[in-house]
Amino acid sequence: MKKLLEKLYVTNTLAKDEIMYILSNINDSLENDLFRLANLTKKNHYGNKVYIRGLIEFSNFCKNTCKYCGLRCQNKNINRYRLMKNEILECCHRGYKLGIRTFVLQSGEDSYFHDELLVELTKEIKYLFNNTAVTFSIGEKSRTCYKKLYKAGADRYLLRQETVNKNLYQNMHPRMSLENRLRCLTNLLDIGYQTGSGFIVGLPGQTDEILAEDILFLKNNNFQMVGLGAFIPHPDTPLSSYNQGSLRKTLICVALVRLLLPKTLLPATTALAVISPDGWNKGIIAGANVIMLNLSPSSARENYEIYQGKNDVSDEAEISLQKVKNDLKNSGSQVDMGRGDYIGWNY
Ligand code: SF4
Repeated sequence: MKKLLEKLYVTNTLAKDEIMYILSNINDSLENDLFRLANLTKKNHYGNKVYIRGLIEFSNFCKNTCKYCGLRCQNKNINRYRLMKNEILECCHRGYKLGIRTFVLQSGEDSYFHDELLVELTKEIKYLFNNTAVTFSIGEKSRTCYKKLYKAGADRYLLRQETVNKNLYQNMHPRMSLENRLRCLTNLLDIGYQTGSGFIVGLPGQTDEILAEDILFLKNNNFQMVGLGAFIPHPDTPLSSYNQGSLRKTLICVALVRLLLPKTLLPATTALAVISPDGWNKGIIAGANVIMLNLSPSSARENYEIYQGKNDVSDEAEISLQKVKNDLKNSGSQVDMGRGDYIGWNY
C-alpha cells in the first residue's frame, strides 16, 4: 500500500484494481499519508489558496426524478420557486460586494429558463460585474444551448456524471440515459468550457469497483473541476431509508481525485459540512481547494433541499465567509476571492 501511494504521488496515475485496493484496504495511518500527499500535491499547484464561489440557486423546479434528490418532480412536499432576473442580479451584487468573483448559477432542469433568457442573464452578469466568471449547473441541455451560453460569456459548467455504471445510473435516474449524460459532457469539453463532473459517494448499490471506474472516468477526461458529495438520504425520496454515505470514504475519494488530477478545482462540498461540523476543513486537508457560499435569499435556500440537513449549514454568505476564514486558519489555508480559474487556463 505504501508503495502504491508513492507511485500515485510521483506519477499521478493508478490502475482500476489499484484504486479498488486502496478503497477497500486503507488503514488509519496510511489514510493520513494519503491526505498528506494529496494536500502536498494541491499546494504544489495552488499554494495555500482556497477559492470562494458564490452559489445562486435560482429555481428548484425540475422535470427529473433522480431517486436521491429532494427536488425530484414527484416530491410534492416542497414549495417550488423561481428567482427572476432582477433577484438573481441582486444576489450577484451582494456577492460582488463581498469580493466574490465567480457566480455559480444552479437550478433543477427547469424549462421556464429557456435558452434566450439564460443568454440574456449571462450577458447582463458579465456586463455588470467586471472580471467575474459565470458557472452554470443547470443539467442536460442541447449542444446548441451550451454553445449559445458559452458565446454569451459563460465560463464554466458543472454536470456530474453521477456514475458511468449503466445499471446504477439507470436505477438512480429513471427517465434519463447515461448515453445522453456522457454526450452532454463531451459537448461541454468540446465547446471549451472549464468543465466539472463528479459523483456521490455511498449511493445504494455502489461498489468499490464502480467507484474506481467513476474516479478513472474523471481522470481520463481530465476535468477542470470535480465535485464529490456524500449520499445523504432525503425523507421525501425513494431512498429515505438507506444509510448515509461515509465521510471517511468520501474524503478518501477526494484525496485520490486530487492525486490523479493534480490541477483540478475540487470543492469541499456542502455535503461534507452536513455530515461533519468540521467537514469543510476535513475536505481541504484531504486536497480540496474550493468552497461555495450560498448567495440565494433565505426563502429560496430553505426550499432548495437536495438532501436533508443542507439548510442547517447554509448561513447567509457574510456569516459563512467569516466562519470559513476562521476554520481555514487551522489548516494553514488562505481564502482567495478571485476568479480562481483552472491553472494555466486562457479565458
Ligand atoms: S439531481 Fe438535479 S436533475 Fe436530478 S432531480 Fe435533482 S435537481 Fe433534478
